[in-house]
Amino acid sequence: MIIQVTDLKKNYGQLQVLKGITTQVAEREVVCVIGPSGSGKSTFLRCLNQLEEMTSGRIVINGHDLSDPKVDINKVREDVGMVFQRFNLFPHKTVLENVMLAPVKVRKMPQEQARERGLELLKKVGLADKADVYPDRLSGGQMQRVAIARALAMNPKVMLFDEPTSALDPELVGEVLAVMKDLAREGMTMIVVTHEMGFAREVGDRVIFMDQGIIMAEGKPEELFEDTQNERLRSFLGRVL
Ligand code: ADP
Ligand code: MG
Repeated sequence: MIIQVTDLKKNYGQLQVLKGITTQVAEREVVCVIGPSGSGKSTFLRCLNQLEEMTSGRIVINGHDLSDPKVDINKVREDVGMVFQRFNLFPHKTVLENVMLAPVKVRKMPQEQARERGLELLKKVGLADKADVYPDRLSGGQMQRVAIARALAMNPKVMLFDEPTSALDPELVGEVLAVMKDLAREGMTMIVVTHEMGFAREVGDRVIFMDQGIIMAEGKPEELFEDTQNERLRSFLGRVL
């Protein structure tokens, strides 16, 4: 198990957003997280890469215990790549510079090596020809693929995706999902919050249904999507499918 989460709770003041999440993710596993807006999906991912501090519980990622006060947060963040709904590329840097930035700044990787690796990653996401353009020349789908390449540049052990296609025009969703599917096929461990049920069904090894701050149901996609016993899951799926 590369990720172990035990009774994770997160409060914002009086509001308890995560009410005790327990789950594990195996190496090379792809876990899709679905659930209504406000159910705590983003908060869950943000706790995993320490953008949010958990209120209680335990998270162990690749051997790092996040509740240990001595844990090196930067090391944890290097192991955990994250891709958001909004791409947040640096507008005044070229596509390649965006991808090279973290390895050079954080890892102190030599420029030449970072450039080579960056070009390799851009090729992987199908954007080798865009290396020298600025982000404003890209479509949303291309920007999101750059954001994926940028996250991969740190050689993460795990990739977290928070609704990576939700901000995209429908015709651009497929190219981003295709890149994610390739990553999954290569064995990347992934947690993907998504409303793309087709992707969850096809690529997910497991689907977690979050509702009101808990894991309301989880299982293999083919089982979960056929589970008509769970009233809230059925009603959610009825709205998104
Ligand atoms: P989801 O991603 O499933 O839509 P979120 O994790 O974004 O859900 O949010 C879960 C709940 O936590 C929501 O009620 C939201 O308003 C609340 N919330 C999220 N972030 C904060 C914050 N920084 N401060 C206060 N409340 C927050
Ligand atoms: Mg969210």
